[in-house]
Amino acid sequence: MIFGLLKEQHRNRLRSRPFSKDWLEIIRRDVAFFVRLSAADQSELLGHIQVFLVEKRFEGCGGLEITDEIRVTISAQACLLLLHRKTDYFPRLLTILVYPSTYMVEEHRHVEGPVWEEGRMPRLGETGRQLGALVLAWETVKSGAADPSDGKNLVLHEFAHQLDFENYAADGVPALATRKQQLSWREVMRTEFASLRAAEETGIPTLLDIYGATNPAEFFAVATEAFFERPRMLRAHHPRLYAELQSYFQQDPVEYSAERLKD
Ligand SMILES: [Zn+2]
Repeated sequence: MIFGLLKEQHRNRLRSRPFSKDWLEIIRRDVAFFVRLSAADQSELLGHIQVFLVEKRFEGCGGLEITDEIRVTISAQACLLLLHRKTDYFPRLLTILVYPSTYMVEEHRHVEGPVWEEGRMPRLGETGRQLGALVLAWETVKSGAADPSDGKNLVLHEFAHQLDFENYAADGVPALATRKQQLSWREVMRTEFASLRAAEETGIPTLLDIYGATNPAEFFAVATEAFFERPRMLRAHHPRLYAELQSYFQQDPVEYSAERLKD
């Protein structure tokens, strides 16, 4: 209790510190959604970034040297997921590892039936419940920040996994406030996940990245990307999914989205 209180006081102090002009310049230049947010949301976001940058460690990999641009561009996108909610700042995450671009990992990958493939596979990012770390490819982070409406965002995807871990299991269900919310979430996600799986089998094009058909955890991460990047389309085609995400995130990205509709 005392520790929680002290932690909250410390975070309050960090949030109210004056924000670095250099960092703000980086955000305005590199993180396209920022200027579209309301003034209140902008200042809430900057406060969260101050806490995030003090509490998380960044480490360069594959010869990458961590700069303020890297730290600030990643945290600005990650903290978008925290607006309007009581948050503990991705409590399971300690370290963010950043590679210059796609990195290779040794993988034992299931192809089909009894067929497995072994070898070095390219990756853009990953995180795990037990890992305490999150890995990102800087090149993709940067291009994702520059285009807020292509439906894809690596940082939002990986940090959505961290939100999923907050209530322990990596099951596509984040920490929801009430039993009623949990029941409604499970019901809607089950239906939406099943229809994405069906689309995967028939090859019908989908708004949600088909990678979300992998499992419920990936479904939540992919749905989060669509929620922030293509909110109008998601609301039109998956209204119940949109409503669940809106109630969890306490945000309506339609209000600040750069998404254009062909209609
Ligand atoms: Zn994922």
